[in-house]
Amino acid sequence: MSDQKIERFRKKILDWSEKNPRPLPWKGEKNPYLIWLSEIILQQTRVEQGWTYYERFRTQYPQVEKLAAASGDEIMKQWEGLGYYSRARNMHTAAKYIKEELAGIFPDTYAGIRSLKGVGPYTAAAIASFAYDLPYAVLDGNVFRVLARIYGIDTPIDSTVGKRQFGELAQDLLDPKQAGRYNQAIMDFGAIHCTPRNPSCDNCPFRPDCQARQSGQVLNLPVKGKKIKKKTRYFHYLILNFEGQLILQKREERDIWRNLYEFPMIESSELHRSEAELVKSKLWQEMIGNCPFRLEAISPSFRQLLTHQKIIANFWEIQIEEAPENSDSFLIIERKNLRKFAFPKIIDLYLRDNSLYLKLL
Ligand code: SF4
Repeated sequence: MSDQKIERFRKKILDWSEKNPRPLPWKGEKNPYLIWLSEIILQQTRVEQGWTYYERFRTQYPQVEKLAAASGDEIMKQWEGLGYYSRARNMHTAAKYIKEELAGIFPDTYAGIRSLKGVGPYTAAAIASFAYDLPYAVLDGNVFRVLARIYGIDTPIDSTVGKRQFGELAQDLLDPKQAGRYNQAIMDFGAIHCTPRNPSCDNCPFRPDCQARQSGQVLNLPVKGKKIKKKTRYFHYLILNFEGQLILQKREERDIWRNLYEFPMIESSELHRSEAELVKSKLWQEMIGNCPFRLEAISPSFRQLLTHQKIIANFWEIQIEEAPENSDSFLIIERKNLRKFAFPKIIDLYLRDNSLYLKLL
C-alpha cells in the first residue's frame, strides 16, 4: 500500500475518534499496572460488564503489591461472575512475579510485558502502546472486523495465514508517532461504529473506499474458520445438610473453574434423576456411605455454556445425620457463610433460584 493511502487511513481513523470520544474509566490512563488490569479484565468480556470489575480491582488493589499480597481465594471472590477464571489466576501469578522478581516495577518493554503470565500478543501491544506509546499494533476482534471490511479480506481470522496477513496490515497502518492514540481510535471505531450487526455505513468516513460495502459483504466479514464443537458434561451436586451446616470442596484439578468452590459433585455421562446410579459412585460412598440420609429434593437442570463445553447440572438436597469422615478433603461450613466463597456461575444461578428456601442471600 502506498504511503499516501496509509496516511489517509490514519487520518480518517484519528479524525473520527476526535469527533466521537468514547468515555471509558481507563481512557488516557498512563499507569501500566492499571492499564494491564483493565486489559486482562476486558479479555473475552464486554466493556459494560468489565467496567464494574475494573473499578472494584482498582479500588481494592491500587498498586501491584496490594494485588500480589491478596490471597488466591480473595482474588477469586472478587472475580466471581466474570468467567474465564484462568485470567484471575494468571493475573495473581504475574502480580507476585512483578513484586518479587521485578521489585514491584511494571516492565516497560514489549518483551517484558509479553513475558507476564496471561499476556498474549494483543494484550502486550495494548499495554505497550497505551502506557509507553511503543509502536505495536493492537489486533483484537474490533480491529479484525474493521480491516476485513475496509480491505475486503476473507481469509479466516483464526487461521495462521489470516493472523499473519491481518497482523502485517495492522502494523503497516499503525501511526508510530502516536501508537496509543491510534490503537484506541481503531478499537473504538470497531466497537461503536463498524459494529458486528449494525454498522453505521451511511455516515462512515470509509464509505467511498470500503470494499465490503461495495461488494455487499459487510455482514459476512470477517470470516471465522474453525467451528468450536462443544462437549456436554453432566454434573450432580450434592447439597449435604448436616445440622444446619453444608459441605463444600475446592476445585483443584486441572479442569474448568480451578480454585473455585462447589458442593461435592458427581460427574457422569448423562443426567440422572434417581439416586440408583449415583449411590454407586466413589464420592457418594465417601460422603454418605451407609449412613441414613433423606433426599429432600432434586432441582430442575441448570445450564452454563463455556467456550468449549456445555455444562448441565442438577442439585440434590440431602439431609445427612453424620458428618462424612476424611474432612481434610472438604469444608464443613455454616449456611450463613456460603456467600464468602467464590462459586462457578451455574452454582450461583442455583443459589439465587433457591434464595428464599435456602435463605442465603
Ligand atoms: S462502510 Fe460500513 S462496513 Fe465499511 S468501514 Fe464503514 S461502517 Fe464498516
